[in-house]
Amino acid sequence: MHFNQSEHLYKEAKEHIVGGVNSPSRAYKGVGGGTPVYMDRAEGSRFYDVDGNEYIDYLGAYGPIITGHAHPHITEAITKAAQNGVLYGTPTVLENRFAKMLKEAIPSLDKVRFVNSGTEAVMTTIRVARAYTGRNKIIKFAGCYHGHSDLVLVAAGSGPATLGTPDSAGVPASIAQDVITVPFNDIEPFKQAIEKFGDEIAGVLVEPIVGNFGIVEPKPGFLQEVNKLTHDAGALVIYDEVITAFRFTYGSAQQLLDIEPDMTAMGKIIGGGLPIGAYGGRADIMEQVAPLGPAYQAGTMAGNPASMSAGIACLEVLQEQGVYEEMDRLGSRLEKGILERAEEHGIQIQINRLKGALTVYFTDEKVENYEQAENTDGEQFARFFKLMLAEGINLAPSKYEAWFLTTAHTDEDIDQTLTAVEKTFRTMAND
Ligand code: PMP
Repeated sequence: MHFNQSEHLYKEAKEHIVGGVNSPSRAYKGVGGGTPVYMDRAEGSRFYDVDGNEYIDYLGAYGPIITGHAHPHITEAITKAAQNGVLYGTPTVLENRFAKMLKEAIPSLDKVRFVNSGTEAVMTTIRVARAYTGRNKIIKFAGCYHGHSDLVLVAAGSGPATLGTPDSAGVPASIAQDVITVPFNDIEPFKQAIEKFGDEIAGVLVEPIVGNFGIVEPKPGFLQEVNKLTHDAGALVIYDEVITAFRFTYGSAQQLLDIEPDMTAMGKIIGGGLPIGAYGGRADIMEQVAPLGPAYQAGTMAGNPASMSAGIACLEVLQEQGVYEEMDRLGSRLEKGILERAEEHGIQIQINRLKGALTVYFTDEKVENYEQAENTDGEQFARFFKLMLAEGINLAPSKYEAWFLTTAHTDEDIDQTLTAVEKTFRTMAND
Protein backbone atom coordinates (compact mmCIF):
# COMPACT_ATOMS: atom_id res chain seq x y z
CA MET A 1 0.00 0.00 0.00
CA HIS A 2 1.45 3.40 -0.90
CA PHE A 3 0.26 6.94 -0.19
CA ASN A 4 2.08 8.93 -2.92
CA GLN A 5 -0.93 11.00 -3.97
CA SER A 6 -1.91 11.70 -0.35
CA GLU A 7 1.65 12.84 0.37
CA HIS A 8 1.61 15.14 -2.65
CA LEU A 9 -1.79 16.62 -1.71
CA TYR A 10 -0.80 17.16 1.92
CA LYS A 11 2.35 19.01 0.84
CA GLU A 12 0.26 21.23 -1.43
CA ALA A 13 -2.40 21.73 1.26
CA LYS A 14 0.17 22.99 3.74
CA GLU A 15 1.03 25.82 1.33
CA HIS A 16 -2.55 27.05 1.21
CA ILE A 17 -4.51 25.85 4.22
CA VAL A 18 -3.27 26.47 7.71
CA GLY A 19 -1.64 23.26 8.90
CA GLY A 20 -2.91 21.62 5.71
CA VAL A 21 -6.25 20.75 7.30
CA ASN A 22 -9.57 22.37 8.13
CA SER A 23 -9.91 20.71 11.53
CA PRO A 24 -6.81 19.94 13.62
CA SER A 25 -7.41 16.27 14.45
CA ARG A 26 -7.26 15.45 10.73
CA ALA A 27 -3.49 16.18 10.82
CA TYR A 28 -2.90 12.91 12.77
CA LYS A 29 -1.52 14.84 15.75
CA GLY A 30 -3.21 12.33 18.04
CA VAL A 31 -1.06 9.55 16.59
CA GLY A 32 2.26 11.38 16.46
CA GLY A 33 1.83 12.97 13.02
CA GLY A 34 2.23 11.57 9.52
CA THR A 35 0.45 12.12 6.25
CA PRO A 36 -3.33 12.08 6.50
CA VAL A 37 -4.97 9.87 3.92
CA TYR A 38 -6.88 11.83 1.29
CA MET A 39 -10.14 10.07 0.59
CA ASP A 40 -11.52 10.26 -2.90
CA ARG A 41 -14.85 8.49 -2.59
CA ALA A 42 -16.97 6.75 0.00
CA GLU A 43 -19.83 4.30 -0.27
CA GLY A 44 -21.51 2.27 2.46
CA SER A 45 -18.90 1.13 4.96
CA ARG A 46 -16.05 1.73 2.50
CA PHE A 47 -13.57 4.49 1.75
CA TYR A 48 -11.47 4.72 -1.43
CA ASP A 49 -8.41 6.98 -1.27
CA VAL A 50 -6.63 8.98 -3.97
CA ASP A 51 -3.95 6.26 -4.32
CA GLY A 52 -6.53 3.58 -5.10
CA ASN A 53 -6.51 1.97 -1.61
CA GLU A 54 -9.75 0.69 -0.09
CA TYR A 55 -10.67 0.86 3.60
CA ILE A 56 -13.42 -0.16 5.97
CA ASP A 57 -14.43 3.05 7.71
CA TYR A 58 -15.01 3.26 11.46
CA LEU A 59 -14.45 7.03 11.69
CA GLY A 60 -17.96 7.76 10.43
CA ALA A 61 -16.81 11.38 9.92
CA TYR A 62 -16.49 11.61 13.75
CA GLY A 63 -20.07 10.48 14.22
CA PRO A 64 -22.53 11.85 11.66
CA ILE A 65 -22.38 9.03 9.10
CA ILE A 66 -24.58 6.46 10.85
CA THR A 67 -26.26 5.14 7.69
CA GLY A 68 -22.96 4.56 5.87
CA HIS A 69 -21.64 6.80 3.12
CA ALA A 70 -23.80 7.90 0.18
CA HIS A 71 -26.93 6.19 1.47
CA PRO A 72 -29.31 6.21 -1.54
CA HIS A 73 -32.27 7.62 0.43
CA ILE A 74 -30.21 10.53 1.78
CA THR A 75 -28.50 11.13 -1.56
CA GLU A 76 -31.89 11.34 -3.25
CA ALA A 77 -33.15 13.81 -0.64
CA ILE A 78 -30.08 16.04 -1.06
CA THR A 79 -30.34 15.89 -4.87
CA LYS A 80 -33.98 16.91 -4.73
CA ALA A 81 -33.16 19.76 -2.34
CA ALA A 82 -30.43 20.99 -4.69
CA GLN A 83 -32.81 20.92 -7.64
CA ASN A 84 -35.33 23.00 -5.70
CA GLY A 85 -32.77 25.69 -4.81
CA VAL A 86 -30.38 25.30 -1.92
CA LEU A 87 -31.05 28.37 0.20
CA TYR A 88 -34.03 30.69 0.53
CA GLY A 89 -33.65 32.82 3.67
CA THR A 90 -37.36 32.25 4.23
CA PRO A 91 -39.09 29.66 6.35
CA THR A 92 -39.81 26.33 4.63
CA VAL A 93 -42.12 23.40 5.28
CA LEU A 94 -39.06 21.19 5.77
CA GLU A 95 -38.16 22.99 9.01
CA ASN A 96 -41.60 22.25 10.47
CA ARG A 97 -41.41 18.61 9.43
CA PHE A 98 -37.97 18.11 10.88
CA ALA A 99 -38.71 19.97 14.12
CA LYS A 100 -41.77 17.75 14.63
CA MET A 101 -39.68 14.62 14.00
CA LEU A 102 -37.11 15.67 16.59
CA LYS A 103 -39.79 16.51 19.16
CA GLU A 104 -41.51 13.17 18.62
CA ALA A 105 -38.20 11.36 19.05
CA ILE A 106 -36.96 13.31 22.11
CA PRO A 107 -39.76 14.21 24.55
CA SER A 108 -37.82 16.86 26.54
CA LEU A 109 -37.83 19.12 23.47
CA ASP A 110 -40.88 21.41 23.65
CA LYS A 111 -39.31 23.84 21.20
CA VAL A 112 -36.24 23.60 18.99
CA ARG A 113 -34.06 25.91 16.92
CA PHE A 114 -31.78 24.82 14.08
CA VAL A 115 -28.23 26.13 13.75
CA ASN A 116 -25.24 25.02 11.67
CA SER A 117 -22.89 23.11 13.96
CA GLY A 118 -22.61 21.44 17.31
CA THR A 119 -20.41 24.32 18.46
CA GLU A 120 -23.17 26.83 17.76
CA ALA A 121 -25.81 24.65 19.39
CA VAL A 122 -23.90 24.31 22.67
CA MET A 123 -22.77 27.94 22.66
CA THR A 124 -26.37 29.07 22.36
CA THR A 125 -27.69 26.81 25.11
CA ILE A 126 -25.23 28.51 27.46
CA ARG A 127 -26.43 31.95 26.39
CA VAL A 128 -30.04 30.92 26.89
CA ALA A 129 -29.30 29.43 30.32
CA ARG A 130 -27.63 32.69 31.29
CA ALA A 131 -30.56 34.72 29.99
CA TYR A 132 -33.05 32.50 31.83
CA THR A 133 -31.25 32.46 35.19
CA GLY A 134 -29.64 35.91 35.12
CA ARG A 135 -26.39 34.20 36.20
CA ASN A 136 -23.03 33.80 34.45
CA LYS A 137 -21.09 30.73 35.52
CA ILE A 138 -21.24 27.22 34.11
CA ILE A 139 -19.96 23.88 35.35
CA LYS A 140 -18.66 21.30 32.88
CA PHE A 141 -16.84 17.97 33.13
CA ALA A 142 -13.17 17.25 32.37
CA GLY A 143 -12.59 15.61 29.01
CA CYS A 144 -16.02 16.38 27.60
CA TYR A 145 -15.73 18.40 24.39
CA HIS A 146 -18.37 20.94 23.56
CA GLY A 147 -17.07 22.62 20.40
CA HIS A 148 -14.71 25.57 20.03
CA SER A 149 -16.58 28.54 21.47
CA ASP A 150 -14.69 30.56 24.10
CA LEU A 151 -16.59 29.37 27.14
CA VAL A 152 -16.01 25.68 26.60
CA LEU A 153 -12.32 25.96 25.67
CA VAL A 154 -11.48 26.27 29.33
CA ALA A 155 -9.38 23.82 31.32
CA ALA A 156 -9.84 22.81 34.91
CA GLY A 157 -8.27 24.94 37.61
CA SER A 158 -6.05 23.51 40.34
CA GLY A 159 -8.79 21.89 42.42
CA PRO A 160 -12.35 20.67 42.03
CA ALA A 161 -13.95 23.91 43.15
CA THR A 162 -11.59 26.38 41.49
CA LEU A 163 -12.23 28.54 38.45
CA GLY A 164 -10.87 27.57 35.05
CA THR A 165 -7.96 28.74 32.92
CA PRO A 166 -8.03 29.22 29.12
CA ASP A 167 -7.38 26.04 27.13
CA SER A 168 -6.63 27.95 23.94
CA ALA A 169 -4.75 31.12 23.14
CA GLY A 170 -7.24 33.85 22.41
CA VAL A 171 -9.68 32.85 25.14
CA PRO A 172 -9.59 35.65 27.72
CA ALA A 173 -8.87 34.71 31.35
CA SER A 174 -11.96 36.75 32.25
CA ILE A 175 -14.11 34.25 30.34
CA ALA A 176 -12.38 31.27 31.92
CA GLN A 177 -13.35 32.72 35.30
CA ASP A 178 -16.95 31.83 34.50
CA VAL A 179 -16.24 28.12 34.05
CA ILE A 180 -15.71 25.40 36.63
CA THR A 181 -14.54 21.99 35.42
CA VAL A 182 -14.95 18.89 37.57
CA PRO A 183 -14.31 15.16 36.96
CA PHE A 184 -17.00 13.04 35.28
CA ASN A 185 -18.48 10.14 37.27
CA ASP A 186 -17.43 11.58 40.65
CA ILE A 187 -20.19 13.40 42.51
CA GLU A 188 -18.12 14.82 45.42
CA PRO A 189 -16.13 17.45 43.48
CA PHE A 190 -19.33 18.45 41.70
CA LYS A 191 -21.07 18.85 45.04
CA GLN A 192 -18.20 21.03 46.26
CA ALA A 193 -18.41 23.23 43.17
CA ILE A 194 -22.16 23.65 43.66
CA GLU A 195 -21.69 24.45 47.35
CA LYS A 196 -19.11 27.09 46.54
CA PHE A 197 -20.68 28.72 43.48
CA GLY A 198 -24.30 27.48 43.50
CA ASP A 199 -26.08 30.82 43.35
CA GLU A 200 -23.80 32.00 40.51
CA ILE A 201 -24.32 28.94 38.30
CA ALA A 202 -26.48 29.40 35.19
CA GLY A 203 -26.06 25.90 33.82
CA VAL A 204 -24.35 22.55 34.10
CA LEU A 205 -23.16 21.19 30.77
CA VAL A 206 -22.52 17.49 30.29
CA GLU A 207 -22.28 14.76 27.65
CA PRO A 208 -24.74 12.32 29.30
CA ILE A 209 -22.86 9.44 27.68
CA VAL A 210 -19.37 10.66 26.92
CA GLY A 211 -18.01 10.35 23.40
CA ASN A 212 -14.93 12.52 23.71
CA PHE A 213 -12.59 10.50 25.89
CA GLY A 214 -13.87 7.35 24.36
CA ILE A 215 -17.32 5.97 25.04
CA VAL A 216 -17.88 6.36 28.77
CA GLU A 217 -21.24 5.74 30.40
CA PRO A 218 -22.30 7.52 33.56
CA LYS A 219 -22.20 5.46 36.75
CA PRO A 220 -25.67 4.56 38.04
CA GLY A 221 -27.18 7.55 39.80
CA PHE A 222 -24.46 10.03 38.77
CA LEU A 223 -26.59 12.08 36.37
CA GLN A 224 -29.60 11.89 38.71
CA GLU A 225 -27.47 13.48 41.45
CA VAL A 226 -26.17 16.11 39.01
CA ASN A 227 -29.75 16.94 38.04
CA LYS A 228 -30.92 17.24 41.62
CA LEU A 229 -28.02 19.35 42.88
CA THR A 230 -28.21 21.59 39.82
CA HIS A 231 -31.93 22.20 40.18
CA ASP A 232 -31.63 22.74 43.93
CA ALA A 233 -29.12 25.48 43.11
CA GLY A 234 -31.60 27.09 40.71
CA ALA A 235 -29.48 26.29 37.63
CA LEU A 236 -30.29 24.49 34.39
CA VAL A 237 -29.06 21.09 33.19
CA ILE A 238 -27.83 21.13 29.59
CA TYR A 239 -27.10 17.85 27.81
CA ASP A 240 -24.65 17.96 24.95
CA GLU A 241 -26.05 15.21 22.73
CA VAL A 242 -24.13 16.28 19.63
CA ILE A 243 -22.65 12.77 19.40
CA THR A 244 -25.29 10.78 21.29
CA ALA A 245 -28.58 11.92 19.72
CA PHE A 246 -29.71 9.03 17.48
CA ARG A 247 -26.40 7.19 17.99
CA PHE A 248 -27.55 4.38 20.30
CA THR A 249 -31.30 4.39 19.81
CA TYR A 250 -33.93 6.26 17.81
CA GLY A 251 -33.90 9.21 20.20
CA SER A 252 -31.23 10.32 22.62
CA ALA A 253 -29.00 9.24 25.49
CA GLN A 254 -31.43 10.88 27.90
CA GLN A 255 -34.07 8.33 26.94
CA LEU A 256 -31.69 5.39 27.25
CA LEU A 257 -30.81 6.66 30.72
CA ASP A 258 -34.38 7.63 31.61
CA ILE A 259 -33.53 11.16 32.70
CA GLU A 260 -34.40 14.62 31.36
CA PRO A 261 -32.31 17.76 31.03
CA ASP A 262 -33.72 21.28 30.74
CA MET A 263 -32.01 21.87 27.41
CA THR A 264 -30.34 19.68 24.80
CA ALA A 265 -27.76 20.49 22.12
CA MET A 266 -27.57 18.26 19.03
CA GLY A 267 -25.65 18.02 15.74
CA LYS A 268 -23.80 15.39 13.68
CA ILE A 269 -26.27 12.54 12.92
CA ILE A 270 -29.30 14.82 12.65
CA GLY A 271 -27.75 16.45 9.55
CA GLY A 272 -27.41 13.18 7.64
CA GLY A 273 -23.87 14.29 6.77
CA LEU A 274 -24.62 17.93 5.95
CA PRO A 275 -23.78 20.80 8.32
CA ILE A 276 -26.26 21.14 11.16
CA GLY A 277 -26.78 21.81 14.82
CA ALA A 278 -29.94 22.15 16.87
CA TYR A 279 -30.86 23.00 20.39
CA GLY A 280 -34.09 22.77 22.27
CA GLY A 281 -35.77 22.25 25.60
CA ARG A 282 -38.52 23.38 27.86
CA ALA A 283 -40.81 25.98 26.33
CA ASP A 284 -40.41 28.60 29.07
CA ILE A 285 -36.63 28.41 28.68
CA MET A 286 -36.62 28.40 24.88
CA GLU A 287 -38.90 31.44 24.88
CA GLN A 288 -35.87 33.45 25.98
CA VAL A 289 -34.66 33.23 22.36
CA ALA A 290 -35.23 36.00 19.77
CA PRO A 291 -37.67 36.92 18.31
CA LEU A 292 -39.72 35.96 21.41
CA GLY A 293 -37.17 36.81 24.06
CA PRO A 294 -34.04 38.85 24.80
CA ALA A 295 -31.39 36.17 24.03
CA TYR A 296 -30.14 36.72 20.49
CA GLN A 297 -29.28 33.93 18.07
CA ALA A 298 -29.57 33.92 14.28
CA GLY A 299 -28.13 32.24 11.16
CA THR A 300 -28.08 32.82 7.41
CA MET A 301 -27.69 29.09 6.80
CA ALA A 302 -29.80 27.92 9.76
CA GLY A 303 -32.53 25.45 8.79
CA ASN A 304 -31.38 25.41 5.17
CA PRO A 305 -33.40 23.09 2.91
CA ALA A 306 -30.45 20.81 2.06
CA SER A 307 -29.54 20.08 5.70
CA MET A 308 -33.21 19.68 6.65
CA SER A 309 -33.79 17.26 3.77
CA ALA A 310 -30.71 15.19 4.58
CA GLY A 311 -31.63 15.13 8.27
CA ILE A 312 -35.20 14.01 7.64
CA ALA A 313 -34.00 11.30 5.26
CA CYS A 314 -31.38 10.10 7.76
CA LEU A 315 -33.95 9.78 10.55
CA GLU A 316 -36.27 7.94 8.16
CA VAL A 317 -33.55 5.35 7.59
CA LEU A 318 -33.03 5.08 11.34
CA GLN A 319 -36.76 4.44 11.87
CA GLU A 320 -36.47 1.17 9.96
CA GLN A 321 -37.02 -1.91 12.08
CA GLY A 322 -33.96 -3.43 13.69
CA VAL A 323 -31.22 -1.02 12.58
CA TYR A 324 -29.97 -0.28 16.10
CA GLU A 325 -30.16 -3.97 17.10
CA GLU A 326 -28.02 -4.87 14.10
CA MET A 327 -25.36 -2.23 14.94
CA ASP A 328 -25.37 -3.59 18.51
CA ARG A 329 -24.92 -7.17 17.24
CA LEU A 330 -22.01 -6.22 14.99
CA GLY A 331 -20.52 -4.07 17.77
CA SER A 332 -20.67 -7.02 20.12
CA ARG A 333 -18.94 -9.30 17.58
CA LEU A 334 -16.22 -6.69 17.09
CA GLU A 335 -15.72 -6.22 20.84
CA LYS A 336 -15.47 -9.95 21.55
CA GLY A 337 -13.21 -10.56 18.57
CA ILE A 338 -10.78 -7.78 19.48
CA LEU A 339 -10.64 -8.85 23.14
CA GLU A 340 -9.96 -12.49 22.20
CA ARG A 341 -7.13 -11.53 19.87
CA ALA A 342 -5.61 -9.14 22.42
CA GLU A 343 -5.59 -11.87 25.03
CA GLU A 344 -4.07 -14.37 22.63
CA HIS A 345 -1.16 -12.00 21.90
CA GLY A 346 -0.74 -10.63 25.43
CA ILE A 347 -1.80 -7.08 24.53
CA GLN A 348 -3.40 -5.21 27.44
CA ILE A 349 -6.60 -3.51 26.34
CA GLN A 350 -9.96 -2.44 27.70
CA ILE A 351 -12.99 -1.89 25.50
CA ASN A 352 -15.83 0.43 26.38
CA ARG A 353 -18.77 -0.29 24.11
CA LEU A 354 -22.33 0.86 23.94
CA LYS A 355 -24.25 -0.71 21.05
CA GLY A 356 -22.62 0.31 17.75
CA ALA A 357 -19.92 2.55 19.28
CA LEU A 358 -16.79 1.41 21.06
CA THR A 359 -13.36 2.54 22.17
CA VAL A 360 -10.27 0.37 22.44
CA TYR A 361 -7.99 1.66 25.20
CA PHE A 362 -4.46 0.37 25.64
CA THR A 363 -4.50 -0.11 29.39
CA ASP A 364 -5.30 -2.74 31.99
CA GLU A 365 -7.40 -0.29 34.02
CA LYS A 366 -11.11 0.42 33.56
CA VAL A 367 -11.83 3.81 31.99
CA GLU A 368 -14.61 5.78 33.69
CA ASN A 369 -13.21 9.31 33.66
CA TYR A 370 -10.85 11.55 31.69
CA GLU A 371 -7.81 11.00 33.90
CA GLN A 372 -8.01 7.26 33.29
CA ALA A 373 -8.38 7.83 29.54
CA GLU A 374 -5.35 10.15 29.60
CA ASN A 375 -3.33 7.45 31.33
CA THR A 376 -3.89 4.90 28.56
CA ASP A 377 -0.95 4.17 26.26
CA GLY A 378 -0.98 6.69 23.39
CA GLU A 379 2.13 5.27 21.72
CA GLN A 380 0.65 1.81 21.54
CA PHE A 381 -2.55 3.28 20.17
CA ALA A 382 -0.59 5.19 17.51
CA ARG A 383 1.16 1.98 16.46
CA PHE A 384 -2.17 0.15 16.34
CA PHE A 385 -3.76 2.95 14.30
CA LYS A 386 -1.00 2.96 11.67
CA LEU A 387 -0.81 -0.82 11.33
CA MET A 388 -4.61 -1.03 11.01
CA LEU A 389 -4.59 1.69 8.35
CA ALA A 390 -2.03 -0.31 6.39
CA GLU A 391 -4.43 -3.27 6.64
CA GLY A 392 -7.24 -1.16 5.17
CA ILE A 393 -9.06 -0.22 8.37
CA ASN A 394 -9.73 3.49 8.86
CA LEU A 395 -10.00 4.42 12.55
CA ALA A 396 -10.16 7.86 14.17
CA PRO A 397 -6.57 9.08 14.64
CA SER A 398 -6.75 9.54 18.42
CA LYS A 399 -6.87 7.31 21.48
CA TYR A 400 -9.79 9.42 22.74
CA GLU A 401 -12.18 8.69 19.88
CA ALA A 402 -14.74 5.99 19.25
CA TRP A 403 -15.16 3.45 16.48
CA PHE A 404 -18.59 4.03 14.95
CA LEU A 405 -20.54 1.30 13.24
CA THR A 406 -23.16 2.19 10.66
CA THR A 407 -26.22 0.55 9.20
CA ALA A 408 -24.02 -0.25 6.18
CA HIS A 409 -21.47 -2.40 8.05
CA THR A 410 -21.80 -6.15 7.53
CA ASP A 411 -20.54 -9.40 9.05
CA GLU A 412 -18.02 -9.52 6.23
CA ASP A 413 -16.65 -6.13 7.34
CA ILE A 414 -16.30 -7.44 10.90
CA ASP A 415 -14.52 -10.61 9.67
CA GLN A 416 -12.12 -8.55 7.60
CA THR A 417 -11.52 -6.14 10.48
CA LEU A 418 -10.78 -8.98 12.91
CA THR A 419 -8.29 -10.47 10.46
CA ALA A 420 -6.55 -7.07 10.40
CA VAL A 421 -6.65 -6.90 14.22
CA GLU A 422 -5.13 -10.37 14.42
CA LYS A 423 -2.22 -9.39 12.14
CA THR A 424 -1.77 -6.05 13.90
CA PHE A 425 -1.65 -7.51 17.41
CA ARG A 426 0.74 -10.21 16.25
CA THR A 427 3.08 -7.53 14.89
CA MET A 428 2.73 -5.44 18.06
CA ALA A 429 3.45 -8.44 20.26
CA ASN A 430 6.71 -9.02 18.34
CA ASP A 431 7.81 -5.35 18.43
N1 PMP B 1 -20.27 18.61 21.34
C1 PMP B 1 -19.78 17.37 21.24
C2 PMP B 1 -20.15 16.36 22.27
C3 PMP B 1 -18.96 17.04 20.18
O1 PMP B 1 -18.45 15.80 20.10
C4 PMP B 1 -18.67 18.02 19.18
C5 PMP B 1 -17.79 17.71 17.97
N2 PMP B 1 -16.99 16.61 18.03
C6 PMP B 1 -19.21 19.30 19.33
C7 PMP B 1 -20.02 19.56 20.41
C8 PMP B 1 -18.96 20.36 18.31
O2 PMP B 1 -19.62 20.09 17.14
P1 PMP B 1 -19.16 20.72 15.73
O3 PMP B 1 -17.84 20.12 15.42
O4 PMP B 1 -20.25 20.34 14.79
O5 PMP B 1 -19.09 22.19 15.93
